[in-house]
Amino acid sequence: MNKEQVKNIAIDGPAGAGKSTIARAVSKELGFIYVDTGALYRSIGVYALRQGVETTDGEKVAALLPQIKVELRFVDGLQHVFLNGEDVSEAVRQPEASMAASHVSAIPQVRAFLFDLQREMAAQNNVVMDGRDIGTVVLPQADVKIFLTASPEERARRRFNEMKDKGMQVEYESLLEEIKQRDYNDSHREIAPLKQAPDAVLVDTTGDSLNEAVAKVTKLVREKLGL
Ligand code: C5P
Repeated sequence: MNKEQVKNIAIDGPAGAGKSTIARAVSKELGFIYVDTGALYRSIGVYALRQGVETTDGEKVAALLPQIKVELRFVDGLQHVFLNGEDVSEAVRQPEASMAASHVSAIPQVRAFLFDLQREMAAQNNVVMDGRDIGTVVLPQADVKIFLTASPEERARRRFNEMKDKGMQVEYESLLEEIKQRDYNDSHREIAPLKQAPDAVLVDTTGDSLNEAVAKVTKLVREKLGL
């Protein structure tokens, strides 16, 4: 695809704001590829956990990077993340991977390590990419930027229901605590902190059903792209 023709949509926001559900729905509707960048950070977190390395130890985690190959492959339009050839798409969704990802994502070498991969995907494909720093750092020239948010309680409730539906055992209170902690880590780190890009549209989905939020964002994206 010609570079000028490629369209990029950036969706950023805190954990549990509905980014992945919304990004997936929008990408399906437009025939774009959905790139979930959180899975990349999660895969580094999983690798560090497996190696018994403290995920907050920047030097030790950075020293692991030369042993790591992360790839994204798309099967029936769905993203699969591969860690040294192993499909870890399920493993990265386990609860312990969330905090590990939040820790390793504050390490500059980890962000640099994943940067080119994300840029390449967006340079070659029409993408809806979600994360924390897509509109600010990874794709500052994105055609549409959305900053998606909702109250911490609402986000924890959504995560709780999502995990319960999958048969996972979780407590609402601990999810809320984790969400607040990750929000804090992600917004206060020195490098690429979570923040709204000046040219991003703020969409607050508190009180919306996911269907309503999807409709809101899809309409906005269509308007911005002139579709
Ligand atoms: O989006 P998800 O919850 O899967 O992201 C896991 C963690 O990865 C986040 O808490 C954040 O610390 C980190 N992350 C990031 N930059 C991104 C995507 C995710 O720092 N673009």
